[in-house]
Amino acid sequence: MENQLIKKIVIVGGGSAGWMTAAALSRYLGTHCEISLVESDQIGIVGVGEATIPGIREFNQKLGIDENDFMRATHATYKLGIEFNDWTQLGDSYMHPFSYFGHDMNGVSFHDYWLKLNQLGDETPISAYSPGYVAAKQNKFIHPNQDPKSVLSRYFYAFHFDATLYGQYLRQVAEKAGVRRIEGKVVAVSLNNAGGIKDVALESGQVIEGELFIDCSGFRGVLIEQALKTGYQDYSRWLPCDSAVAVQTESVAAPTPYTQSNAQAAGWQWRIPLQNRVGNGYVFCQQYLSDDEAIDTLLKHVEGEVLTEPRVLRFNTGRRNQFWNKNCVTVGLSSGFLEPLESTSIHLIQTSIMKLINLFPDQGFNQADIDEYNRQMIEQFEQVKNFLILHYKTTQRSDTPFWAYCKNMEIPEALSYRIELFKKTGQIARCDDEIFVHENWLAVLLGQKLMPEQYHPKVDMIDTAQLKMIMQQMKGVVNQAVAGMPNHQETINRWCKS
Ligand code: FAD
Repeated sequence: MENQLIKKIVIVGGGSAGWMTAAALSRYLGTHCEISLVESDQIGIVGVGEATIPGIREFNQKLGIDENDFMRATHATYKLGIEFNDWTQLGDSYMHPFSYFGHDMNGVSFHDYWLKLNQLGDETPISAYSPGYVAAKQNKFIHPNQDPKSVLSRYFYAFHFDATLYGQYLRQVAEKAGVRRIEGKVVAVSLNNAGGIKDVALESGQVIEGELFIDCSGFRGVLIEQALKTGYQDYSRWLPCDSAVAVQTESVAAPTPYTQSNAQAAGWQWRIPLQNRVGNGYVFCQQYLSDDEAIDTLLKHVEGEVLTEPRVLRFNTGRRNQFWNKNCVTVGLSSGFLEPLESTSIHLIQTSIMKLINLFPDQGFNQADIDEYNRQMIEQFEQVKNFLILHYKTTQRSDTPFWAYCKNMEIPEALSYRIELFKKTGQIARCDDEIFVHENWLAVLLGQKLMPEQYHPKVDMIDTAQLKMIMQQMKGVVNQAVAGMPNHQETINRWCKS
């Protein structure tokens, strides 16, 4: 590899990934490097990433973005979690809230105490102890309290927003910081002697040279795959959905502070409420459903006037073999795609960018940094992959060929270990440094009705009558705190109405 100092960075692609990268690199690298971004209006962007997880707030804060201003500009609403309907069995419903459940006691996880009472016949769902869940279901929202003693400090939030407007918003941030935007289509990529990228040529004849190239060209992977042939790990045997159809509809009610994921015959349907409209889509598997059937089902299950033509998208769930190959780093859909069930794509974009900034080759390329970057990114993708598979594998449904396949499919060993451990002992295998941590796994494992055979023995150190009283109090504190919260729409009106 040619070991040059990085003076020129070229980003190919101006979707969310491209502009998030441009905004972050320009902020962190200042004037050390010249940053150009090439995008093709003719090709356009995928434009459907509308739901996020709480890490997005940290990314925006690092860019110095004012949250209310960003929310106004992107018609954003607050998001406290995702509700899953009909996933375990038809008629079942649970939420994955971005929230703690109750309080741990004597060094033992709260859910172990809940399990004991559940085994004794108490039917209170664990979600009754989650301030995030209780608020979401009552359509309430207030920013979390900063006082750690308050129960209202025990949840997090993310956003639903218009992804196209988010890209435009970040474009302004990046251009203000000196990023140069070049409109045009990359038609050729030439390689240097080391097999890395030397320059990209546009349809207009313009040639753009650089030392570091960032591929944000979406599913096409213009640099990382078409030019560098990096290769792809296919995840479709575990995550068989390969298509989606999306439509926008008018809002017929105040926006809910949560995303909905409703299982359908061959996949699932999303509902994402923004301030000015609702995003809807059916993620499905072509092997079991035609495009026409998917469109038909989607249109039957949306509310309000349909504002856009149904748009079909195809994808291949998986990831690149390497995320950083020679002098090219891939960010966004060009790096791989894990279907949108847990709204993780934008999160993976921000993680890619922050890891690149941490391992930035200031002194020229160093293979050890590249290997470490790849190791960390592979880990991230694998973690999300396993969390997503969990939702499918633990279904009890076999009413359609799609669900029968999911229920019976082989799953990665790391995931089956986690499921078995939970079933036998109630413990969740260590995941503190993962994207989804203890509470997230707990929400889905219990939501999908996996009940552990036992609870932690230390639970019995508290007398049962006393435990019942403590649990009753915890539930009361949650209910009382949520009762005093404003509703979601009021909070939007107060801070960020678009
Ligand atoms: P794109 O938006 O496709 O942008 C690619 C860019 O590259 C464009 O600017 C294009 O013009 C440019 N380009 C391509 N080829 C060339 C060329 N030859 N020359 C010049 N420019 C070129 N994410 C979430 O976080 N939450 C969600 O709820 C969510 N839902 C999704 C639902 C579906 C069905 C799909 C498919 C994705 C979803 N995503 C979601 C993912 C999210 O949409 C993407 O991660 C995000 O939009 C980033 O896309 P991107 O910028 O990588 O690619």
